Amino acid sequence: MKIVVTAAWLWDGGKLIPDPVIEIADGLILSAAPASECEVPEGASTLNYPGAILAPAFFDIHIHGASGHDVMEATPEALAAVSGFLGSRGTGNFLATTVTAPLDTTLRSLERLSGLIDAAASAEWQGARPVGIHLEGPFLSHAKRGVHPPAHLLAPDIAIFDRMFEAAQGKVRLMTLAPELPGAAELTAHATSRGVRVSLGHSNATSAETHPAIAAGACSATHTFNAMRPLDHREPGILGIVMSDDSLYAELICDGIHVDPALVKLWWRAKGATRAILVTDAMSATGMPDGEYQLGGFPVQVAHGRATANGVLAGSVLTLDRALTNFVAYSGALVETALPLLTRNPAAMTGFSDSIGTLQIGKPASMVAVDRTGHLLGSILHGHLQPM
Ligand SMILES: [Zn+2]
Repeated sequence: MKIVVTAAWLWDGGKLIPDPVIEIADGLILSAAPASECEVPEGASTLNYPGAILAPAFFDIHIHGASGHDVMEATPEALAAVSGFLGSRGTGNFLATTVTAPLDTTLRSLERLSGLIDAAASAEWQGARPVGIHLEGPFLSHAKRGVHPPAHLLAPDIAIFDRMFEAAQGKVRLMTLAPELPGAAELTAHATSRGVRVSLGHSNATSAETHPAIAAGACSATHTFNAMRPLDHREPGILGIVMSDDSLYAELICDGIHVDPALVKLWWRAKGATRAILVTDAMSATGMPDGEYQLGGFPVQVAHGRATANGVLAGSVLTLDRALTNFVAYSGALVETALPLLTRNPAAMTGFSDSIGTLQIGKPASMVAVDRTGHLLGSILHGHLQPM
């Protein structure tokens, strides 16, 4: 069946098109043109978003769970719950993100996640699609581990990385790593050669300790400011490099809790329209009432929108649609300027630009409708309107 979507504007991942008419058939975009250049086909069911901007569905490259489930459970039920919830909040694709755990546990999760990522590529999959894996750990700094369990942190090790990569059938697309650890640059070069993007984070590195990993291929930073050596104007450290090196992408958790709005603005000025990436770092309590939840294998308390373990921030309960409204409010950016941060930029960094982050004829009809403040009005994934 044909579906037609109209709105005030379409941002297709590159340009703004006024008065768009988008035709969808079999989950794919059949055509997209200004209303002045086409006719709405008769008999098609129509979704109208007057005043709204249509944009590619969001892509979350750092998310641990939602709806009471952690992706490391790696069961069909857990992934279905996470995917359904994310779809209702405008996220079309995500990288299932692990936390540091015993190696055997991680390997078992990765094996099963690989099968679920294959299953998610089918037409029957409901909601957001896991398209790859982000390994957050175990190669992180003890000094900046956040809530990652210290007993399971490891020094960078190519053989252990290969075991994880193979358990995941090559579906690891991103790995967070602390550049100051011995062997970090070698592992960065190795992982990069296998198609894995390396993101600097959970790190106490000085600037001198940060450079070798960047030279070896590291291309992004994990939740900038959080679990990161703070800025010192004489020893810029990892944060000074992340903010000033124009080649590096940089994630940010824009929930108003992890980073003060004033520094969200500074990060935006530093990283700009092509390098800034909004992530959630959301954990299983996302979309759930306050209470006791799990992140990977450890307990986390959630109260008033803060997720903590022993008083330390432990992921978030943020959704990308709220990250967008927060970012627009804090930065003063126009919503069309902000949209690349949740679509095109994460896709470009992780090598998914072909299939994610743009709306093109013949590609999946996965899109959101948002108003001028970034407020989510509708979410359509593979041609299906998502319940909200
Ligand atoms: Zn983290």
